[in-house]
Amino acid sequence: MPELPEVETIVRDLKKKIVGRKIIDVWTDWPKTVKFPKKMDKFKREIIGRKIEKIERRGKNILIFLSGGKLLLVHQKLTGHLLVGRWKIEDNIPRPLMKGALEDKVNNYIHFIFFLDDENQLALSDLRKFAKIMAGAEDEIKKFPDLKNLGSEPLDKKFTFERFKDRFSGKKGKIKQVLMNQKIIAGIGNIYSDEILWQAGVYPLKEVQKLKENELKAIYRSMRDIFKKAIGLRGDSMSDFRDTAGRKGRYQEFHKAYQRTGEPCFRDGTTIKRFKLGGRSGHYCPTCQRLTNN
Ligand SMILES: [Zn+2]
Repeated sequence: MPELPEVETIVRDLKKKIVGRKIIDVWTDWPKTVKFPKKMDKFKREIIGRKIEKIERRGKNILIFLSGGKLLLVHQKLTGHLLVGRWKIEDNIPRPLMKGALEDKVNNYIHFIFFLDDENQLALSDLRKFAKIMAGAEDEIKKFPDLKNLGSEPLDKKFTFERFKDRFSGKKGKIKQVLMNQKIIAGIGNIYSDEILWQAGVYPLKEVQKLKENELKAIYRSMRDIFKKAIGLRGDSMSDFRDTAGRKGRYQEFHKAYQRTGEPCFRDGTTIKRFKLGGRSGHYCPTCQRLTNN
């Protein structure tokens, strides 16, 4: 699933490519993507004819602010990614009109297209079809739990170490799970929680209440370092993620733990192990991330 760096990559691209444009039409062969309002004609009325005024990221959500106080929210979920390009719809199937990356298979599961007033289109390629789109008055959309209950932004200048530490007070659970809880901190998923904890040298199944000050500090620093690096590399494309031109990010070339089961740790050569946690898997080094109580 796209996490903070991947969503940030998309948002930065979109700011350059589509701000100031007007949405003139919508096509879809999977109307279920729209969760609110449920009826497609109502959804269209919320967005058609409106100008894209600004674009922001909040957690893993893409917020497209439209004229007239409307907000279009896109959550790419498991395999979704937004593309900007041109397609021609033939027999209800979009075909790319541009050569290059947009022709790649991973970019050709297009189920949703916003037509813009400069002949470009904003399209959603989504193999698994779990992505989510909502539109309505800004206040109304911001009331949905998706946004309302979101935790702190890891890269926010005001999100100091003290505030980070406060987020864990009274919380229970294992650090990997707590880091991925969007209500506590927004934007961290399976890939980056593995990478952050490896860099910090913290055992992923350690109870948060047992973490020492120096461990929390190491997690905080690693989180900020890794996110900055991953944004610089335009995200992680080990799975379906692509940028808005359909190109891969490069963070997958720098994994230290995620999906490295059986390979040697870059610090000490110990074999990276995989573990199960709440139906998902995590990866860690049993030597430099061992459980300690000091
Ligand atoms: Zn190690």
